Amino acid sequence: MKMFVNSKWMDKKEQIPVHDPFDDSVIDSVPKADPDDIQRALASAYKGFETARNMTVYQRASVLYKTAEYISERIEEFATLIAREGSKTIREARKEALRCVNTLTVSAEEAKRILGETIPFDSFPGGEKRIGYYYRFPVGVVLAVTPFNDPLNLVAHKLGPAVAAGNSVLLKPATLTPLSAIRLTQALLECGLPPETIQVVTGYGSEIGDALVSDERVRMISFTGGVEAGRQIMNKAGIKKIGMELGSNSPVIVWKDADLDWAVESCVSGSFWAAGQNCIGVQRIYIHKDIYEPFKNGFVSQTTQYQIGDKMNEKTDMGPMITEDEAVRVEKWIEEAVSIGSEVLCGGKRQKALLDPTVLENVPEKATIFKEEVFGPTVSLFPVSDMEEAIGRANSLPFGLHAAVFAKNIDLAFQIAYGLDCGGVMVNDSTDYRLDSMPFGGIKNSGLGREGIKFSIQEMTEPKTICLNLE
Ligand code: NAP
Repeated sequence: MKMFVNSKWMDKKEQIPVHDPFDDSVIDSVPKADPDDIQRALASAYKGFETARNMTVYQRASVLYKTAEYISERIEEFATLIAREGSKTIREARKEALRCVNTLTVSAEEAKRILGETIPFDSFPGGEKRIGYYYRFPVGVVLAVTPFNDPLNLVAHKLGPAVAAGNSVLLKPATLTPLSAIRLTQALLECGLPPETIQVVTGYGSEIGDALVSDERVRMISFTGGVEAGRQIMNKAGIKKIGMELGSNSPVIVWKDADLDWAVESCVSGSFWAAGQNCIGVQRIYIHKDIYEPFKNGFVSQTTQYQIGDKMNEKTDMGPMITEDEAVRVEKWIEEAVSIGSEVLCGGKRQKALLDPTVLENVPEKATIFKEEVFGPTVSLFPVSDMEEAIGRANSLPFGLHAAVFAKNIDLAFQIAYGLDCGGVMVNDSTDYRLDSMPFGGIKNSGLGREGIKFSIQEMTEPKTICLNLE
């Protein structure tokens, strides 16, 4: 596939291959942008903002509605692309394609709800005879940098709100999974997005990232990815708006009165969705000691029934990790945890990029797999005795995206929910539940700002006050 710069699809001699992680076959390639391409894309995005800001709300919403319809008519095509270039099984990929349709539809709806307010200027002496209001205007060029794990919908989470708000966008998708992002760009263009308002550059973030993030023509960086890349970007960005959707290490608390079957089923799915490469995937489960054994037995029994392998097979529950190197990293973290006292209840075996879904117990808090974001198909179980202990241990790490609690006693569930430090608490669902239109984002090292279409639009616009002196 090609990149899209200065209103043209561009190819380059130097190409970056895109692999299917299941068998490492090359499925396509993308151009490797050079510094001149980056400057061309930045200049074009800067110019394109004039067009974007002058589109009426009706025009912006129409493009987004049409693109949503375009994708809904091609779910199988988009799902296949997601599944081939990434880790998701075809069933998981279909869900992502459907969510993308919703993200774009809601973006179209929210384009019509970018509102301001009147201001009571006479609420302080000196403001008499003044009337006015504020409205929200687009920030300008939005640089969107996206990760590999949701290669379509997380891109839509940036392009949809940016278009809805009247911004131009420069997109840098993940090098491992750039194809769905490029296909989404094609869809937007076919559905009427003016070409000068969008650029897509492909290339390694470590090489082209600095020139993009430090450029003063970029007025907002909307980044989704790991904490390390986020930190590097923030160090280089200078004065501009920044949205950071980063990683986490999500805790779940299962209380003794929980619906055990549902808690097990929901947590197994939340742990191994997309081979655990999910920013809100379940990583630590704190289980009341009275139900620890039955929960553990149910969890291990369901996990060992997981079908892993070929992503395109309808029966497959879990595919490979994104690369063999990543699977080796997680395997090493498991080995380290075992060397200091952890027990593997099931899984732990690896074949190339396929790592068996793995359940651990007795994981010491000094283990890397406890402290860091694992971003792989591994989960650790811990017994807890009381609510304070459960909340304290859940909050003990410098991450805070999602947390979850399973309990029938709703008073207790809410006490726990209010005690958990994070951007969202799911009650009687695992941490990986997300509706695309809800506010989504983290605290601590999990990020800054919120996405969720309406909330992204807030971040991608600025209020302008108009005050009229009638004296
Ligand atoms: P990553 O390595 O941080 O990469 C994310 C994006 O940043 C890629 O496009 C990457 O380009 C680019 N990049 C890397 N270094 C850069 C730099 N110095 N300057 C500019 N761009 C740079 O993350 P990933 O491995 O793709 O994704 C996994 C991470 O994303 C996990 O930590 C996960 O939790 C997080 N995530 C968070 C959310 C959320 O909403 N909070 C959602 C999904 C994923 P290259 O691909 O070329 O390296």
